[in-house]
Amino acid sequence: MLQANPWSPHLAVAVGYGKGRVWLAGDSAHQYIPTGGYGMNTGIGDAADLGWKYAAVLQGWGGPRLLESIEAERRPVGLRNCEASGAHMGVRLKIAEAYDPKTHEDSAEGAAAREAAGKLIVEHGNAENEAFGIELGYRYRGPPIVCGEDNEPEWRLLDYVPSTWPGVRAPHVFLEDGSAIFDHFGPWFTLLRFSEASTTPLVEAAARRGVPLTVVDVRDSNARSIYERDFVLVRPDQHVAWRGDAMPADALAVIDRVRGS
Ligand SMILES: Cc1cc2nc3c(=O)[nH]c(=O)nc-3n(C[C@H](O)[C@H](O)[C@H](O)COP(=O)(O)OP(=O)(O)OC[C@H]3O[C@@H](n4cnc5c(N)ncnc54)[C@H](O)[C@@H]3O)c2cc1C
Repeated sequence: MLQANPWSPHLAVAVGYGKGRVWLAGDSAHQYIPTGGYGMNTGIGDAADLGWKYAAVLQGWGGPRLLESIEAERRPVGLRNCEASGAHMGVRLKIAEAYDPKTHEDSAEGAAAREAAGKLIVEHGNAENEAFGIELGYRYRGPPIVCGEDNEPEWRLLDYVPSTWPGVRAPHVFLEDGSAIFDHFGPWFTLLRFSEASTTPLVEAAARRGVPLTVVDVRDSNARSIYERDFVLVRPDQHVAWRGDAMPADALAVIDRVRGS
């Protein structure tokens, strides 16, 4: 043992994530018990959110509401992950409380104790390691900078169901040539086009506001079915900002919304 540090468990989320030019990310905003392993993961999500928004403001195309959206988007994720981490800890405690020393005995009683322990563990499940809804399915619900839609797909703790409902993280998919769709995204906003129709309205609106936008043509029927629409506008943090089967009637309004104007 070279070093040992004191550590105390916390389940805490900041009341506010920031104000003006100062915003929190990582353990300054939330501290969890490591059951589930959500602390650093959530912190990285915060940093990805903060990073592009600060850059947008510094580059001059971020609107006045962009930084405020940090709290609207990240705090609900912080709260839900805190709750899940606490619930996973509760499962561990229940398993620990049920510990029976007979488990170690080489006897019929020992075998029965082991069977009972196994049954209990199976009944409690393994959500700590299998909560794909937390890890991949997190989404921004109704934030001011996403072109939201009704009919939100059901969120499930243990499952990740790919979707492009605005606010979710764009789904990973390998294209027919073996490349990952994420590897084709631009560094800032990406407009995915799965059809031959023109992208001019959104491209011109983005140029008018100085929003950096890359158009990526994808001709892949599997990817198109997973992405659900002919056009999907993806933010620099890979969350979906807008989608449609045709260009929006007011493309400038879409660009203004997603840049926090
Ligand atoms: C036992 C344990 C297991 C964990 N397991 C997982 C896991 O499996 N998965 C996971 O995702 N997360 C896990 N975590 C959580 C993860 O370690 C933290 O969420 C993550 O390290 C937080 O990173 P951070 O950069 O926000 O904060 P920190 O890592 O706390 O970094 C903050 C830094 O700021 C420095 N600092 C503080 N004050 C000042 C100051 N005034 N001036 C300059 N510097 C300052 C500190 O020294 C520190 O280096 C675990 C945590 C623990 C304790």
